[in-house]
Amino acid sequence: MHEKPHRFVDLRAWFGKKTEHYRYTQGVAGEHFFREIKENGKLLGTRCPKCGRVFLPPRLYCEDCMEYTTEWVPIEGPGHVETYTVLHRDLDDKPLETPRVLAFITWPGIEGGLIHDLGEVDPDEVYVGMPVEPVFKPQEEREGKITDIRYFKPAGD
Ligand SMILES: [Zn+2]
Repeated sequence: MHEKPHRFVDLRAWFGKKTEHYRYTQGVAGEHFFREIKENGKLLGTRCPKCGRVFLPPRLYCEDCMEYTTEWVPIEGPGHVETYTVLHRDLDDKPLETPRVLAFITWPGIEGGLIHDLGEVDPDEVYVGMPVEPVFKPQEEREGKITDIRYFKPAGD
């Protein structure tokens, strides 16, 4: 692209709903991760047997040690808002009725994190470091997708 874009939509590579959730391919590790979300409403990471780092989303091997991450560990406790943005327009550049808050959420001591919506919070009250927890759809509505998490809400509410 050599011309200066004037509209955000001109820079888009993907169209459709929830495209930000599909940057990770499901793969072997992802299959287990999403099955746990669907069946038990829990987040899982994988741990490197050599350096002990835990990855979320789970990775099949540790890039540093070149070891398979064979151990699955539950991701417990609240995550924290690492960074966030408030969207006022949708992917078709139409104004949203209510602003949407998208956050990158990380957990203490865990490598990586998840990008997801925040809910049950006023966009003006969101802050970096805010503790948040996932709100899952009811089990019968879950499909083994990241959207089985409706959103993350302030933890402890
Ligand atoms: Zn490692």
